[in-house]
Order: sequence, then C-alpha cells, then structure tokens
Amino acid sequence: MRIGIDVGGMSFKGGIVNPEGEILYTHVESTAGLEGYAAMEEKLFILVDQLLAKAKAQAWTIESIGVGVPGLADVESNMVVYCTNLGWNNVPLGAHLKARYGLPTFMDNDATVAGIAESAKGCTKGVANSVFITLGTGVGGGIIVNGKVTSGAHNKGSEIGHMIVGDNFYTCNCGNNGCLETFASATALMKDFQRRIEAGEATALCVDANGAKGVTAKDIFDGAKAGDPAAEMSVTRLAKYLGIGLANVVNMLDPEVIALGGGVSKAGDFLLNQVEAEMRKRLVFKEGDQTRLEIAQLSNDAGIIGAAMLANYK
Ligand SMILES: [Zn+2]
Repeated sequence: MRIGIDVGGMSFKGGIVNPEGEILYTHVESTAGLEGYAAMEEKLFILVDQLLAKAKAQAWTIESIGVGVPGLADVESNMVVYCTNLGWNNVPLGAHLKARYGLPTFMDNDATVAGIAESAKGCTKGVANSVFITLGTGVGGGIIVNGKVTSGAHNKGSEIGHMIVGDNFYTCNCGNNGCLETFASATALMKDFQRRIEAGEATALCVDANGAKGVTAKDIFDGAKAGDPAAEMSVTRLAKYLGIGLANVVNMLDPEVIALGGGVSKAGDFLLNQVEAEMRKRLVFKEGDQTRLEIAQLSNDAGIIGAAMLANYK
C-alpha cells in the first residue's frame, strides 16, 4: 500500500491506495487560516500520522509516501521550490517527510500527478506513452514516456500551459505573451468573452452593466451549444488554439493518447470534436495510426491516487 497526499489551497487530502490504484481510506486536514509553512507542515504530519495509524490497525504495510503540490517540486532535493497559492518558497516538505517517517518519498506537480492517476486507473490505463492536459483556471500537464514521468533534464520541462501558440490580447502570468494557458483555460475563455461583450458583439447570455462579469466558462459553453453568437466565437477561438497546442504535442511526442481534464473538459464531445478537427489539420503525418484524444475519467480522487502511484512512475 502507498500513501498519496493532495496538497490543496484549503486542505491536505491523504489516502491509502492499494497496488490497483483503489483508495482504501482517506483523511482530510483543513489548512484554512494557517499562516506560514511550519504550521502547515505540522498539519501534514498529523495527516500522515493518522494514515499510518489506520494502516497499522489494518496490518497494511506502507511502502512509500507521494505528494502532489500546486507548484514546482524539485525531485532531487525533495523541496517545494514554490507554491504561489500557499506562499511557499523553497520549503523542505518532501525531505522532512522522509526524515520523519523513513519511507521513500516522492513529490511532483499536481497536473503531473493527475496524469499519473489517469495512467494508473483512468482513460490512459495501460498506455505507455500519454500526455495529460488539465484545462482549469490555468493549464497544466504531465508527460509519460515509456511508463515514466518526464519533465526534462532540469525538471523544468512539461510546462504545456506555457507553450506559445499565438499572439494574444493579454500577457500570461509567467510574463510571456501567447501561452496556451491564455487561450485554453477557463480564465482565458471568460476574458475573451468579456472582450467581445465590451466590443458590442451579440449575446443572449445574462450580461449586466459590468459586461460579462459573473458569466462562467460553463455558461459560455452552454451558450455556444445553444447557438449564442458571442459564446460560439469564444469557444471556436479556444478550440482553434488548443488544437494548435495539441498538434505541437503530437508532432513532437506522438503519444498514443492525449487526455484532457479539468473544468473546461467537462464541455465533453462538443469541445473535443472541434479541438480534434483543429488539431488534425495541423499534423505533419495524417496517415496511419493516430494519437487519440480523450476526456479524463477521474476527478476528485485523482490527486490522491496519482500521488500514491508516483513511486511507480519515477
Ligand atoms: Zn505563460
């Protein structure tokens, strides 16, 4: 059995996961209102203590601890380099877990971890070469090559959300212009829709004096499905640039499957069909066997399962 921990903005979720990727037990510790790393680390230890106590009571042997963090983790030193949401900079999370519990300890970015969960139990199960892309408030991803996670020589690769796919009307948080994240995230969709409303384009969606503020990405997808003109244009634009990004991934890596997860992927086949058409027309090799596009299957549990399974993908 392995322990998997999902570090979120408001809580640490932990679970005990069996070799088949099934969660046998979960425990959550809230981190709301905690200030500073030391206080949060204490909560993390309480969580792991609880999981180990449960394992002992059940006579389960724990082989490793895995942690998914919403930021950059350095695999070699087991440090979290940064976690903007939590205000962490160079914190020794993995190293301290390893020192305290004496178990092999693994960490990685939460998007990579979600990709591992899909590979262990979801839509890329049994696939040796896959790419997972999460389309949420931002865009993140994980690359699995020959059954192992890869993020490059310096652990600075796999930044799918910051692949530059065009010129955009606003700049990415990373400082560059044209990142995939600024075209294909839920945030990007809402910004583009707002821009269209300010330019006076027609919409039947509920828009007030503030423009499209309060209109969600789901509202825009639903509007597009119903034929709303401005919503349709925003979704068509997102599909085009996501298609460009996916074509780059296929032309470079030729994975067997690209799995799309995150809130935006809930638009399902309506989005997938448009994105796939945009991707296919930009592929260098259009004949023979092709990369499949799929919607990710796991949602809430992916963080725990993927973190627990990290040991198998390193
Ligand atoms: Zn960027």
